[in-house]
Amino acid sequence: MNVLVINCGSSSLKYQLLEMTTETLLAKGLVERIGISGSVLNHQKIGAADKIVIETPMDDHKDAIAQVIAAITNETYGVVTSMDEIGAVGHRVVHAGEKYSDSEVINADVLAALEECVELAPLHNPPNLLGISACTQLMPATPQVAVFDTAFHQTMPAESYIYAIPYEYYENYGVRRYGFHGTSHKYVAERAADMLGKPIDELKIITCHLGNGASVSAIRNGKCIDTSMGFTPLEGLVMGTRSGDLDPAIISFIADKLDIKADDVIGILNKKSGVLGISGVSSDFRDLESAAADGNERALLALSVFAHRVRFYIGAYMAELNGVDALVFTAGLGENGPDMRKAICENMNNLGIEFDSVRNNIRGKETIISAESSKVKVLLIPTNEELMIARDTYRLTK
Ligand code: ADP
Repeated sequence: MNVLVINCGSSSLKYQLLEMTTETLLAKGLVERIGISGSVLNHQKIGAADKIVIETPMDDHKDAIAQVIAAITNETYGVVTSMDEIGAVGHRVVHAGEKYSDSEVINADVLAALEECVELAPLHNPPNLLGISACTQLMPATPQVAVFDTAFHQTMPAESYIYAIPYEYYENYGVRRYGFHGTSHKYVAERAADMLGKPIDELKIITCHLGNGASVSAIRNGKCIDTSMGFTPLEGLVMGTRSGDLDPAIISFIADKLDIKADDVIGILNKKSGVLGISGVSSDFRDLESAAADGNERALLALSVFAHRVRFYIGAYMAELNGVDALVFTAGLGENGPDMRKAICENMNNLGIEFDSVRNNIRGKETIISAESSKVKVLLIPTNEELMIARDTYRLTK
């Protein structure tokens, strides 16, 4: 059975088509500039030499998904002969609130629940819903599944997710910690158990998803017990452009100083902060590393602050888990940044982490990067959220 995985943003859409009995990727692509001039679809048939670039107006997500279907069914660069060969569609959906702790086949109840969550994820859930609606119109007979970023974290105990603010804000408005990147944390935790040859329900794992957005999770026996992102993805680690944790009193202080609204300060904390804010150079770690190598002190400081915050969470989660068997690095920087992994792990030998700089000198490949004798295994695992979405979609619809 073929599963189409769709990840809709406000003006972009990523897709993959996978054959699920063998978990083979058949095609993938990216649509950009949906609803603005210069709409373009980049399509790749796996195994084909050339990428296909289709520049055509796409006014909305329905136009975009129609183009995706046209590409994957195209006689020359397509991979299936008709839409009937798409058995199901899996959608990445950011926020399911407290309603779902697993992926769900989409029906009227699920749609209503996701509409209710729009106020919790005003930037993310609306484009996700547009993608679902477009597929419903274009392929009404094909089952669709929603896979939620928040679902994996629903096993957190109340002591991890309750903020110390008046309890009625949780009861009345759902103000609590939810956590994000759940599909990625779950995928790499399962792979870590496979790589170590142990059942996941006998392991304590800390997963570090270090991309543009970044989060750490503590996983006991396969269940998330804590994660660094909170009510929104702003909490936790320092990120590319997000501040992560800070004293909330800073918000009104800066709003007063700059004569702007609290909401505008939140915008600054989301888009102009993080390593970009500290360095003034870039949100991209490659730029920061090269600026730091050229002697830029603020780039160096940004990298140090980032590493410090990751270590801070690893230490906290080691305490929460009462030790850890595996520490996993994933996502853009986690997979491709040996210098950052070294900065984070190098001085943790008293905590059972024996770092191996030679093994660590690798990018983008599943491997164990700690020393053979290390009590805590450090693993590099490229994430694959699309495969996880396809697996859940297949499981629920086959
Ligand atoms: P997201 O999906 O959150 O946008 P990714 O997981 O793709 O992010 O990670 C993107 C980040 O990964 C980039 O901003 C960059 O800083 C970092 N990155 C990617 N490749 C490298 C590399 N070779 N060295 C250091 N950092 C890298």
